Amino acid sequence: MLALHLLPALNPKPSFTPNRGAAALKPFRNPKTLKPNSSPFTVRSLLQYNRKPQLSGDTPRVVVITSGKGGVGKTTTTANVGLSLARFGFSVVAIDADVGLRNLDLLLGLENRVNYTVVEVLNGDCRLDQALVRDKRWSNFELLCISKPRSKLPMGFGGKALVWVVDALKARPEGSPDFILIDCPAGIDAGFITAITPANEAVLVTTPDITSLRDADRVIGLLECDGIRDIKMMVNRVRTDMIKGEDMMSVLDVQEMLGLSLLGMIPEDTEVIRSTNRGYPLVLNRPPTLAGLAFEQAAWRLVEQDTMKAVMVEEEPKKRSFFSFFGG
Ligand code: ADP
Ligand code: MG
Repeated sequence: MLALHLLPALNPKPSFTPNRGAAALKPFRNPKTLKPNSSPFTVRSLLQYNRKPQLSGDTPRVVVITSGKGGVGKTTTTANVGLSLARFGFSVVAIDADVGLRNLDLLLGLENRVNYTVVEVLNGDCRLDQALVRDKRWSNFELLCISKPRSKLPMGFGGKALVWVVDALKARPEGSPDFILIDCPAGIDAGFITAITPANEAVLVTTPDITSLRDADRVIGLLECDGIRDIKMMVNRVRTDMIKGEDMMSVLDVQEMLGLSLLGMIPEDTEVIRSTNRGYPLVLNRPPTLAGLAFEQAAWRLVEQDTMKAVMVEEEPKKRSFFSFFGG
């Protein structure tokens, strides 16, 4: 049997060493391993259907991506849905409203290009367009960060300030974006209230576990109190094997508990973690992975204000086709 201390040398893997300071937090981008993906799934992209989704509702659609609980996939959803919308041809501004723990820039691989934030705009140190970071892959996608990483919510920065930012985006000379996505911080305190204030609709991200669901339920109440009635749910990190083994709630159970319409269900997929660490959102991978396709489909439904039906995975699992996972 191999001695344990030999294993790392025999199986070298990129590793992150915690507590090495800010430099250690740069995404891992080894060009040698930056191949599209190594998923066993070769899934055809929706874009191959050669149709642009029909934009429904008034623009800009101001959508907050929220959850209550942290770590359930809000930022992952914002990055992947946002870039999918851009790929469909819509103009998108994604606002990272997670002030203290901002990381949307990292997921998008744009962290080195954020020179100014909303705080500098409000202080009069730069113009709004200087704080907007345009993605080089999809130039109709822009990122806007509220403040520098690890800073606190600036004094006096609240819902009204974010409404001002959204109004300024609408009034830009090049025209209002089609979508403004707001990546909400975890919790239900001041940062959450600020993030939801300008939104007309919400995407509630949850995982199929009771802690996440309890927080989601609380957040639904708060969104409704704020006048946001259009709330759709995204169930993330779904594991059909665990659902079949009755170790995880099914998406149908989640839907019955929260009573929301379903925008998408995203499987647990190691590719999501790989893409997070590389700053290369999953939906850009070709061919797309299962989770990438699920994000793309959710974005499609968001555009058309459509929803999907949850699938009873426990029922006749062998008869279902691959695409029935998505309710198609
Ligand atoms: P939040 O913004 O809600 O705090 P994140 O989007 O930052 O959550 O995601 C937290 C972690 O979970 C990240 O490391 C991300 O890669 C991982 N993750 C998110 N969704 C999935 C998924 N479907 N499969 C596997 N890992 C996921
Ligand atoms: Mg986040």
